[in-house]
Amino acid sequence: MSLLDKFDRYPLTFGPTPIEHLPRLTEALGGDVQIYAKRDDCNSGLAMGGNKLRKLEYIVPDALKEGADTLVSIGGVQSNHTRMVAATAAKLGMDCVVVQEKWVPHFDAVYDRVGNILMTRLMGAESRMVEDGFDIGIRKSWEDAIQSVKDRGGKPYAIPAGASVHKYGALGYIGFAEEVAQQEADLGFQFDYIVVCVVTGSTQAGMIVGFSAQDRADRVIGIDASGTPEQTRAQVRQIVDNAAELVDLGRPVRDDEIVINEDYAYPAYGVPSEETNEAIRLAARTEAMMTDPVYEGKSMQGMIDLVKKGFFPKGSKVLYAHLGGAPALNGYSYYYREG
Ligand SMILES: *Cc1c(COP(=O)(O)O)cnc(C)c1O
Repeated sequence: MSLLDKFDRYPLTFGPTPIEHLPRLTEALGGDVQIYAKRDDCNSGLAMGGNKLRKLEYIVPDALKEGADTLVSIGGVQSNHTRMVAATAAKLGMDCVVVQEKWVPHFDAVYDRVGNILMTRLMGAESRMVEDGFDIGIRKSWEDAIQSVKDRGGKPYAIPAGASVHKYGALGYIGFAEEVAQQEADLGFQFDYIVVCVVTGSTQAGMIVGFSAQDRADRVIGIDASGTPEQTRAQVRQIVDNAAELVDLGRPVRDDEIVINEDYAYPAYGVPSEETNEAIRLAARTEAMMTDPVYEGKSMQGMIDLVKKGFFPKGSKVLYAHLGGAPALNGYSYYYREG
């Protein structure tokens, strides 16, 4: 039985994502904690995939039901989310308008031409650059974009930043929790912790609701990469409450089941610290696993530091949820010019 039985899903991904052991990273971190990754970064053939597609699978049926012809969304210049919305629109044969804000104070020469935004443009989305800074909330530029589609006679379907505060935004990662439980049954063991990056919130919020049905939501360790953790925590709380009701979880989720570690987002959203870059290099050199300076490099940094600090008891099995994001590396070429 699934919490998601009553919801429609439009397939955009290959299906369950692989879980793999990371023996060389495990060894590099002392060998006392076994590290695994669930590869949601390899979840689809659509424009290099990632976590937003798992969310969009539950949003697309609503867009189709409403008869929309244009998907409208918002993110930063190197947004993975807007790439995934553009991919979804292309796959469905819809138009796409994405607002790209200056979320990151970053000046790599080709930042606004490579990686995510390059693919977004290639897939035919209309990418609008605006000057607004980082904010996970609802923005005027986004409302303007919706209105402009209406003004030209289109039928817009609005998808908020990260697909997070959408009413169905958390469903995909409730499915993740159920998928992990099934894979654990095949593997013959359970993971003690799940490490996941959190910014706009519905990835972790979905996991929390899904794993709370298995009574282990407090084992989902969110690593904040927003640098505005109070706003992120409030948004996760709100998404958890809405999703718990939507899927008839049957009980409220307690505050202590929402675990967010704020220690690794410095110096700012989208700006890697030296420790973030070291984490990115370690994952690349031990496992050829690519993580990015905005999201996954920070959750990798957090996991590495928590292992080194002894946060996970000896013998623990930790599952790193790899959510994608590697295309953004292209926008940061200067950091990695010598590896
Ligand atoms: C969007 C994104 C996240 C953060 O997920 P939220 O649901 O916004 O909290 C993490 N990693 C990658 C690669 C992303 O694209």
